[in-house]
Amino acid sequence: RAIVRELGRIKEQREQELPIISGEIPPQETDPADFKRRFLKKIRKLGEGNFGMVELCMYDPNGDQTGELVAVKSLKTENESSNLRREINTIRNLFHENIVKYKGICNEEGGMNIKLIMEYLPAGSLKEYLPRNKSNTEQKRLLLYALQICQGMEYLGSQNYIHRDLAARNILVENESLVKIGDFGLTKSIKEDKDYYKVTEEQDSPVYWYAPECLINRKFYKASDVWSFGVTLYEIMTYCDRESSPPQVFLKMIGRSQGQMTMARLVDALEKGWRMPRPDSCPEMVYAQMDKCWSQAPENRVDFSSLIEEFTSLLS
Ligand code: ADP
Ligand code: MG
Repeated sequence: RAIVRELGRIKEQREQELPIISGEIPPQETDPADFKRRFLKKIRKLGEGNFGMVELCMYDPNGDQTGELVAVKSLKTENESSNLRREINTIRNLFHENIVKYKGICNEEGGMNIKLIMEYLPAGSLKEYLPRNKSNTEQKRLLLYALQICQGMEYLGSQNYIHRDLAARNILVENESLVKIGDFGLTKSIKEDKDYYKVTEEQDSPVYWYAPECLINRKFYKASDVWSFGVTLYEIMTYCDRESSPPQVFLKMIGRSQGQMTMARLVDALEKGWRMPRPDSCPEMVYAQMDKCWSQAPENRVDFSSLIEEFTSLLS
């Protein structure tokens, strides 16, 4: 009977959700995806990236601290609001256990200041989690994270999305045995923001996660995400150690220089076949997977479904 009740509840939720998807706006009070700004209480900042800022909030309509914890993403500058709208449109169509869950939006003040409400993942991103939990995270766990990222990416690709910002800072940790892909901010917005391609001295500049065709022709394929996955795998295998972060490793090799010069040297090194070396503690078998992600031509790269097979067998 519990199952029947559960099904009834799911059906109810569905019926509430469907009108939003089909474009009919249901009455404000009954729309579970519409969060009221006045009930959204900021607790602390969770993080920020190039465009956005994410805060931990309690959504507390009863005003008695019994509300739920949610992660709320807004933009640093308001003129990017169409990008956040696009991100919302992407994330609300994605349903997979390795993709962060959309909860709703907060869209008062005439839509100028739209916010994305997501589930809150208490352990933050892999970039914060792994250095802190190095001693209690065995290598096998790292391979499990890699497998889960591939599963999320395989699903994303099946929905014809290209992530374009796959990196450890954008993989969120639910608990020690579950990670999810987050940050769909670049999924469609890269063309509008040409500055994002400019190399800066910024440590997190995503050019070090980009495949040659992205750097040279600004073309992004599903296989370009595979390249970035290889770089993410590199980060994971080093427990996101700052000293061996991809920007550090590349800059050590090509030397520090200004702006476009760095870009030119990076492209040159990649075209000559230079790749990040195997991290000390990384098994050959795992490095072999990175290497397959870093084939020069996108058509020669491994795909996510073969990577899933590889990691599954490495884990068994
Ligand atoms: P940006 O587009 O600015 O890079 P992200 O969506 O990547 O923004 O979020 C920035 C940071 O905020 C992440 O790297 C992570 O540390 C934190 N964060 C984002 N979403 C969540 C969440 N749902 N739960 C917990 N922390 C999050
Ligand atoms: Mg990010």
